[in-house]
Amino acid sequence: MVSPPETPEGIHEVGGTVTVLRPNGLLQRPNKYIQENLALKGKAVQSSTYYTWGAANAIDGIRYAPGEASSCSISGYDLSPWWRLDLLDSYKIYKVTVTNRADCCPERTTGVEIRIGNSLENNGNNNPRCGVTSSFPAGSSVSFSCGGMEGRYVNMYIPNIQAVLSLCEVEVYGTAKKQVIRVQVKAAENVDEAELKELVLNKLNQTLSDQDVILTWRTQPNGEVFQKNRTNLALKGKAVQSSTYYTWGAAIGGIRYAPGEASSCSISEYDHNPCWRLDLLDSYYISNVTVTNRGDCCPKQTTGVEIHIGNSLENNGNNNPR
Ligand code: CA
Repeated sequence: MVSPPETPEGIHEVGGTVTVLRPNGLLQRPNKYIQENLALKGKAVQSSTYYTWGAANAIDGIRYAPGEASSCSISGYDLSPWWRLDLLDSYKIYKVTVTNRADCCPERTTGVEIRIGNSLENNGNNNPRCGVTSSFPAGSSVSFSCGGMEGRYVNMYIPNIQAVLSLCEVEVYGTAKKQVIRVQVKAAENVDEAELKELVLNKLNQTLSDQDVILTWRTQPNGEVFQKNRTNLALKGKAVQSSTYYTWGAAIGGIRYAPGEASSCSISEYDHNPCWRLDLLDSYYISNVTVTNRGDCCPKQTTGVEIHIGNSLENNGNNNPR
């Protein structure tokens, strides 16, 4: 996808993905992520399985179903029985909800320790503890607040006794520690790959400097550099001005000169600090701005005009950098 450069001022685009690592684990809209039950994307195993009541029954998204322990997991009568959920990635976990069997045996979900962490030592049962279930009624759910404990594994563990562990549903709510952003970089200058990588990360870091993030390249820029011809972005934009003299509006017509009195020109009234503003409808790297004067008279009306470019509308955009 490399096309030969036509002009040195062209736009260069390079694809790559950046991993955003927020040490505090919070994304910009944490609620959106916390509402997702992460368990549904995971895989579950248990110390042993009683007949067909496999570990996956506790993450099938169904809390209750008619019938004998339907949609529940049941372990064998094990010493220190356990059930383990692998979330396949490490998350900050804020809430774990456990649902009990409705048809019998609520005691089989009593004294269960909830362990969260990244270690598989002792089958994950040595990870830090979020809470312990006390006796709760058959067919009910109980939630534990885990305060953002970090981990890939969520274990249910009844230590040091011979018991049956039964879980009808385990739900896990939390946020991803990492966020991957796909970036396409537009640079006004042609930069080689090494410089570009540095430049992009620095720019992103500057932009996010007020936030608690660490950026690293996940996929290096792939060098698929291609160059676009210079285009007049103004033609896609919308223009306004401080005031309009008769019918000489602000709009961009794409015509530099036309016969007649100020044809195809904009004219403001006799204003204090007159201004004209073009909205490109998106943010761009701008390499050239070309201004064309009136052909029929009054060239002074385009003298002393400051060109300001930026994203702010403060003072009608006239406070942007010059
Ligand atoms: Ca279930």
